[in-house]
Amino acid sequence: MPRNIYDADHEAFRSSVREFVERSLKPRAEEMIRDHVIPRDLWIEAGKQGFFGLGIPEEFGGAEVEDYRFNAVMAEELAKFNAATSSCFGIHSDITAPYIVALGTQEQKERWLPQVATGEKILSIGMTEPSGGSDLAALKTTAVKADDGSGDWIINGSKTFITNGHQCDLAVVAVRTDPTKGAKGISLFVLEAEDEGFSKGQPLDKVGQPESDTSELFFDNVRVPADRLLGEPGMGFIAMMQKLPQERLGNAIANIANGRQILEETIEYTKERKAFGQPIGAFQHNKFKIAELVTKVEVTEAYIDDCVVAHAEGKLTAVDAAKAKWWAAEVQCDVLDECVQLHGGYGFMNEYRVARAWKDARVHKIWAGTNEIMKELIGRDLGL
Ligand SMILES: Cc1cc2nc3c(=O)[nH]c(=O)nc-3n(C[C@H](O)[C@H](O)[C@H](O)COP(=O)(O)OP(=O)(O)OC[C@H]3O[C@@H](n4cnc5c(N)ncnc54)[C@H](O)[C@@H]3O)c2cc1C
Repeated sequence: MPRNIYDADHEAFRSSVREFVERSLKPRAEEMIRDHVIPRDLWIEAGKQGFFGLGIPEEFGGAEVEDYRFNAVMAEELAKFNAATSSCFGIHSDITAPYIVALGTQEQKERWLPQVATGEKILSIGMTEPSGGSDLAALKTTAVKADDGSGDWIINGSKTFITNGHQCDLAVVAVRTDPTKGAKGISLFVLEAEDEGFSKGQPLDKVGQPESDTSELFFDNVRVPADRLLGEPGMGFIAMMQKLPQERLGNAIANIANGRQILEETIEYTKERKAFGQPIGAFQHNKFKIAELVTKVEVTEAYIDDCVVAHAEGKLTAVDAAKAKWWAAEVQCDVLDECVQLHGGYGFMNEYRVARAWKDARVHKIWAGTNEIMKELIGRDLGL
């Protein structure tokens, strides 16, 4: 099925992202795997290309593009390269920056957004804690007002599994400012890497996505002035609930784009690889399997495209974003598992893209809200 949600402007933007992937990312792929991080100079280069400023107002150095389809194009093209780059860049510009844009004061925006747009300041977002990620309302990290009348806040606690955590210059963190109020006692703060008492762990040793830095964040009596509070006190949970649908849609877009890309590469492989004197793709079992996978991808893509258009028009519901997120993760994992099978032993070798993509994909059923939590949201919406 031809896709019909993108016009010539989106395709021109797609070409510029593709060119960046070919010219700058692909030659550094092994380096990123070795170092567990995207090198700083690539962040700066992506910033120069305007990839981080899409949702940032022009007065703060961004392009102020309101059409989410451009964000979707970027997520797709990066995910075709690998899941980690799409995730790290996405966490920076598509997921965390919108909190500052939506909730920041004029002074906060002037202070942080220009360097977010250029890629000089890397963002992370800290919600998950060692004690739990699904039950966000139960988070334990605290911020209490200093008792010296200064208006400063003192933050204690920790976060874990934070994408860009080791590298970040700024972290938007969810903390408890009122222990008596549950979800309504949660607020957001912006921490700067230099803040005394704020430290980061080394990148965690993950099953997949070795290119991404996923780290712990520690807060040991971090004293910050009142102007680090992002938005109103007690409104952090609501802000997260408002912003999570975009994060989940971005995941769905990247997951299906990655699945489609690896499937296309696998189809080529099955045309070339021979067994019993014929291409392995010509065996009826494999042909039917591939037909099923292509159908699954295209049907999923059609639903996600509808979600992209709905989001571009400001109409995407949290429940539809949840459906897109869990389903795309499931389809991607199924597709990649079959792609590994079609590669035979080579599919289990790390030097093959299919093997890496298979390992990279597993987390997509877990992060940004697990598949079970997505189904919980959908079930609740059905009155169950
Ligand atoms: C590589 C990676 C990157 C990440 N990046 C970030 C990041 O940048 N920022 C951030 O804040 N977090 C990040 N996370 C954390 C991620 O969002 C959490 O791991 C996720 O939300 C699940 O939380 P948890 O690990 O504490 O699992 P738990 O909440 O302990 O859940 C464990 C299991 O119980 C199930 N479960 C929990 N509650 C229910 C329920 N009500 N009904 C049914 N089943 C339930 C879950 O679905 C899961 O299967 C990242 C995680 C990984 C692995």
